Amino acid sequence: MTTSTSPLDVAKIRDDFPILNTQSASGRPLVYFDNAATTQRPNAVIDAMSRCYREYYSNVHRGIHTLSEASTGAYENARATVASFMNASTTSEVVFAAGTTAAINTVARSWGDQNLSSGDVILLLISEHHANIVPWHQLAERVGCRVEFIAINDDFLIDDEAVASAIQTHQPKLFAFGAASNTLGTEYPVKRWTQLAHDVGATVLIDAAQAAPHWQLDVQDWGADFVVFSGHKVCGPTGIGVLWGRESLLDSMPPFLGGGGMIDTVTTDGFTSHSLPEKFEAGTPPIVEAIGLEAAVKYLLQIGMDNIHAHERQLGSRADAGLREIAGVRVIGPTPKHKGGINSFVVEGVHAHDVSQFLDGQGVAVRAGHHCTMPLHNAIGVSATSRASCYFYNTIDEVDVFLQAVSDVRDRFA
Ligand code: PLP
Repeated sequence: MTTSTSPLDVAKIRDDFPILNTQSASGRPLVYFDNAATTQRPNAVIDAMSRCYREYYSNVHRGIHTLSEASTGAYENARATVASFMNASTTSEVVFAAGTTAAINTVARSWGDQNLSSGDVILLLISEHHANIVPWHQLAERVGCRVEFIAINDDFLIDDEAVASAIQTHQPKLFAFGAASNTLGTEYPVKRWTQLAHDVGATVLIDAAQAAPHWQLDVQDWGADFVVFSGHKVCGPTGIGVLWGRESLLDSMPPFLGGGGMIDTVTTDGFTSHSLPEKFEAGTPPIVEAIGLEAAVKYLLQIGMDNIHAHERQLGSRADAGLREIAGVRVIGPTPKHKGGINSFVVEGVHAHDVSQFLDGQGVAVRAGHHCTMPLHNAIGVSATSRASCYFYNTIDEVDVFLQAVSDVRDRFA
């Protein structure tokens, strides 16, 4: 057993996650290292959702009957909890969306169509997930604006000077960037870069899909205009995420989807929109998912975001050091100082899919491919990487199992 200085009682935490105590298909204990793709759910989430379905499930905002009032109350309580999780100043700014992808598309369609036109620039990092690239390419096709990227350097990093210089050169209308890269693991200085973009009058969108699970979100301190994240990456359900927007901005934007729930009045001539946040929540919303998300963020807060971050940095750093010691393995990402629990790597002469399949046989679940970051992979000159991503319920011992399995890869394929 390797000693750890983690602030967490991981053995106790693991008892909260039924799936972590199962065996992998290979019959070995499961080492789940695909947390950047999606996280596992604790009993608190499973139970809260099940309780809703069993005891008080109904549609929200529409019925006068008791069940509907109970569901509506729970749904709105969930919004209040999520607002506090992000340190939003009001619940009106917290829109429930289907996930990060849906939230960014909403901003692109609504704010983008209204505010961008030919010649305008949207500035992104080369490390963006496709969810924070494709909606802007689509917007560019619609309105004739341009998408520009900031490159990484040879150490897989982007420094303040590169960001400042790109902002000065391009004078973007929008700077949209991931707070942390889902492939490189790099954690970016959100507040500083937001300020640099605001200095030239740009609007700033933060893709917090890889930040919300790991650090304390503080939308007021960050100062950005939009912040988005997904429920399933914070131990919550799929099918729900958050679009947080500055109230004045959301107020000025047209609704994206039309239908029930988002209107105030409808006549044969047209409609008027509901106030925030319902204006952006057309149709029956993800009611039980919101209740599950609330249970998830309460669970994370009880463990403590700083504790989570410290623990996974410790695991990530050990994995990084171990990978760098294995002959023929190249870590695709910066040194641990700059990143959290994500480590992408290539094994010389072995395709990432084969690496992943071999590790699966050892009970270790990692992701293989481009991780929805094709422009980044193209820039680095590799078509696919393997990615091991830890979370607070992983252990140092699991990192060692993973490292042993990676060191066996070349023996198996050489
Ligand atoms: N942005 C980042 C940085 C991500 O890692 C992901 C998912 O992997 C997304 C966006 C898309 O999230 P979702 O598929 O939940 O919409």
